[in-house]
Amino acid sequence: MPSIDFLKPSPALAYIIGVVAEDGWAIIKRTNIQYIHYDVGASVKDKEFIDEFASCLGKVLNRWPPRPIPLKNGKFVVRIGSKILCDLLKKPINIDKISRFVEHCEDCIRSFLKGFFDSEGHVQKGKGNIYCYNTDIKLLKYVQKLLHQLGIKTSGPYLVKRKGTIYFNKKKRGELIKQIKIATSSTLNHQVD
Ligand SMILES: [Zn+2]
Repeated sequence: MPSIDFLKPSPALAYIIGVVAEDGWAIIKRTNIQYIHYDVGASVKDKEFIDEFASCLGKVLNRWPPRPIPLKNGKFVVRIGSKILCDLLKKPINIDKISRFVEHCEDCIRSFLKGFFDSEGHVQKGKGNIYCYNTDIKLLKYVQKLLHQLGIKTSGPYLVKRKGTIYFNKKKRGELIKQIKIATSSTLNHQVD
């Protein structure tokens, strides 16, 4: 089985990392002594987004893109059994593991952020801002650091009652992120200054 050392940095991989980090999953389950189940995926409403995610999985794993499956709740799900991606992306996300792929070049940074914001962006109408919720304060601070590197102003992290949000301008998908309001779960109170 290949290890994550075999993964090559690319915008497609960075996009996958962004999606899974924000709103997807990477789960390793041992179902019995011999068999380990690997499950990487995401479920969203936006067909264009899920097609992009599937296409990136195809590119990175050098296979046909997995087919998005429509769910009863109007969302689409894409999932794939990949040990290498589970090792890289199981939660809580290990920043030290992902950083060399995410920060490989500016294209990769942008692609990671695009995946992160596409995954669960909440647009605030009329203001051109988006914000995202995440309970992982380390991950949010990392995203904020990358946005600053690209010269994008952010604010927060702020505490919110439930879960997270990011503000960005959707006119140019993933490109113009005007302001970020990073929110964290109230259960992480003690970690927020
Ligand atoms: Zn790159």
